[in-house]
Amino acid sequence: MSSNPNVGRSGIVLESRASYDQSDSGQNRWIEVLVDCPEAEAQKRLYTYRLPAQLQVQPGDILSVPFGAQVLGAIAIRICDAPPPDLNPAKIRDVEDVVSAGFFPPTYWQLLNQVAQYYYTQLIQVIRVALPPGLLGRSQRRLRLAQGEGEGRQVGQAGNANYLSPTACKILELLQAQPSGDYSFVYLQRQVRGAYRAIRELLRAKLVESYLEPPRTQRPKLQKAVTLVADVFPLDLTQRQREILEVLRRRGGDLLLTELLQICNASSSTIKTLEQKGCVVIQEREMLRTSAEPLLAGDQPKALTPAQSEALEAIASLSGFAKVLLHGVTGSGKTEVYLQAIAPILERGQSALVLVPEIGLTPQLTDRFRARFGNKVCVYHSALSDGERYDTWRQMLAGAAQVVIGTRSAIFAPLPRLGLIVLDEEHDSSFKQDQPAPTYHARTVATWRAELENCPLVLGSATPSLETWLNITSPELTDSTQNSDAMNRVSPTQNALTHYLSLPERIQSRPLPPVEVVDMRQELQQGNRSIFSRSLQEGLQQLQDEGKQGILFIHRRGHSTFVSCRSCGYVIECPHCDVSLSYHHAHEEAAELLRCHYCNFVRSHPQSCPECGSPYLKFFGSGTQRVAQELAQQFPQLRYIRFDSDTTRTKGAHRTLLTRFTNGEADLLIGTQMLTKGLDISQVTLVGVVAADGLLHLPDYRASERAFQTLTQVAGRAGRGDDSGRVIIQTYSPEHPVIQAVRRHQYQSFIETELEQREALNYPPYGRLILLRLSSTDAAEVQETAEMLAAGLASNTPQGDSSSDTHPTTPMYEVLGPAPASILRVANRYRWQIMLKFAPDSLPELPDFNELRLLCPSSVSLTIDVDPLNLM
Ligand code: ADP
Ligand code: ZN
Ligand code: ZN
Repeated sequence: MSSNPNVGRSGIVLESRASYDQSDSGQNRWIEVLVDCPEAEAQKRLYTYRLPAQLQVQPGDILSVPFGAQVLGAIAIRICDAPPPDLNPAKIRDVEDVVSAGFFPPTYWQLLNQVAQYYYTQLIQVIRVALPPGLLGRSQRRLRLAQGEGEGRQVGQAGNANYLSPTACKILELLQAQPSGDYSFVYLQRQVRGAYRAIRELLRAKLVESYLEPPRTQRPKLQKAVTLVADVFPLDLTQRQREILEVLRRRGGDLLLTELLQICNASSSTIKTLEQKGCVVIQEREMLRTSAEPLLAGDQPKALTPAQSEALEAIASLSGFAKVLLHGVTGSGKTEVYLQAIAPILERGQSALVLVPEIGLTPQLTDRFRARFGNKVCVYHSALSDGERYDTWRQMLAGAAQVVIGTRSAIFAPLPRLGLIVLDEEHDSSFKQDQPAPTYHARTVATWRAELENCPLVLGSATPSLETWLNITSPELTDSTQNSDAMNRVSPTQNALTHYLSLPERIQSRPLPPVEVVDMRQELQQGNRSIFSRSLQEGLQQLQDEGKQGILFIHRRGHSTFVSCRSCGYVIECPHCDVSLSYHHAHEEAAELLRCHYCNFVRSHPQSCPECGSPYLKFFGSGTQRVAQELAQQFPQLRYIRFDSDTTRTKGAHRTLLTRFTNGEADLLIGTQMLTKGLDISQVTLVGVVAADGLLHLPDYRASERAFQTLTQVAGRAGRGDDSGRVIIQTYSPEHPVIQAVRRHQYQSFIETELEQREALNYPPYGRLILLRLSSTDAAEVQETAEMLAAGLASNTPQGDSSSDTHPTTPMYEVLGPAPASILRVANRYRWQIMLKFAPDSLPELPDFNELRLLCPSSVSLTIDVDPLNLM
């Protein structure tokens, strides 16, 4: 790749196949492989081998290669016409053999290559995102007798095959002696000297076959489950015991012991007592590592509303690749449409992939899918343990029809026979990876994947992204003039035309909740110094009186966003980053801490100002802890649960907290961003936004879009059940267009104004951006490098390449910067950035980014963020 200066424009993937086909000239060929070696270092780089002329190799095949004194497994990555210049060709060793051809289906392999090319990163980086950690390290290759080779054959006799070496005979004997005729490579290598060569011999003679061990369906992992057996509870139960049984009953009468203990905050002796009283039984149950979540009672498809049916019919009628936007207001029943669209896909023996933004909302959504499709549902995201990810991955590969629900990296789930991809909350920025490379957006990759697999892609949202919206409203802009050979194209934009489906109303015609905007300046003028306006206080009071539930949204976690001295104005900052420290203080007994939200540096809260010694330190800005504290003072009777990244750090905490809330153990959920994403809790009637301003004034061209989406989504949590909802947004800028648009539920006019502004400035989705992020611990060196690169980029004028299909008049990219990042120093690294801006419809001749990387001194790291969302 690095030798091609036009790497941005030309296909990369298929060169390997093409060059392979012309290879019978007896010419030498080389191959880069990823070696199956437990040492982390070896997994980080590619090794070059020579390909023997007779060997048929495709990228993605599993090979065996000599490595030091051993023979190891390896994945074929790239076939090259020349060895790397810094390697002595005489020292390059030969590939031994192909162990398993076509381990990656061709379309999947192509997807990985497409991602590598579009995001200017090495294929190996993409493979690392796509494969579960340790796949190569763990890959269990096994050898078994080929069909019909079980008994009949006499070892050592030639039969119709070639003569076998004594070692090969020995291995064959071992296999035949084993009832299932099957051993792992590792075992055979330990038993027989020179096994590798002999295995190759047997493979060639087709006497044995090698395969990757499929996941065992039964992991001998036992877990205790509690099942409710009593219909009528005995009279001698304590209040506490009754509560526990009640929780169990509400959850369908069957829960894992660990989960029941967590939800009820009970000890196992309490549950044992209940067992002695004959109310429950505790049984050991075998669990798959992949399904460590409770099994739920079955659930039937709901009778659809007319709008839902129309959407479902439209999706069901699609055959092959198509992109669909399902634009449904919050609570309009998008999930039910996904469920009913997926059911026939499973019946056809195909699989479906459902992507969601964050783990926080996965338990609820997963439950709904599990209730409908049972154990056909599997969850795949980076919060799983390595073992769980590994098992799930292998199970997906096995090919049974299934639904995979996961976060962004699940777009690489290795599902054969994909029938549908759904991206729920498609506007959400957690679908984008900022770092490390590849800096991919799951929506972009999903479009390619759907195209390669020839299946529909459904994007769902109440507040679609501008990118998606643009492709619907102005088809003439996106009319594809390129040839449709998806194999060779990396489309510069996501310009597949998008079908529009709409669910304009909530289920049962429930109204969207009225949004009241409170001007906090007036509150102050009228003498209210509380962080809660009078309206919000009244709303909270009402919750308490009527026993309803509410949600308070706060932009930040922690207590206060910064601490400053009243006497001299000194602000306590992180010693490693250019940001102020946030004050954290959960409750009376907890230590008072100052924490950096960028590098997690923690120090104790000082008694006095480090600068002038004054004891008067003041807290500014409210985080979740502060709001919780104020709430406890003003409404001591309201029980609350904090739901932010501080309280949901442990595994399963999201589920536990949400379960406690839906069980009515608290009146209020107080949390950050993660509250906004798809929570469907019917008892919630009040939603309060404590301070919208933190969202409005960020130095980012996407701030308005994001603020609108966040506020609309959080407002959409109210009034989803029988009781009507109410939303109160507190702000110091009530006239801000975002606030006004949210108040009037005006998606369309907001988005159209926003699009006009983007167009005027040539920002996405009209222009495209590539952000080069440089960082180093050496402030001077990173700045110099940034200046040097920016100057080089600016002088890179188009070459008069007449064979090029780009117009000579095509404007080049614009170089913005170099500029220090808006927070210059994070974790002691100084950060600079350079932005490239260009028209989306024709990719200009971009520089070879690998060469740019080589220009950076080793102390400076360079990340290329393609289509960046976060410019901070
Ligand atoms: P969205 O994802 O659009 O915000 P949901 O899919 O969460 O909305 O649906 C909101 C609620 O309405 C859920 O509790 C769901 O079970 C319920 N619901 C969805 N479709 C129907 C239907 N056709 N009939 C009755 N209830 C429905
Ligand atoms: Zn001071
Ligand atoms: Zn810091």
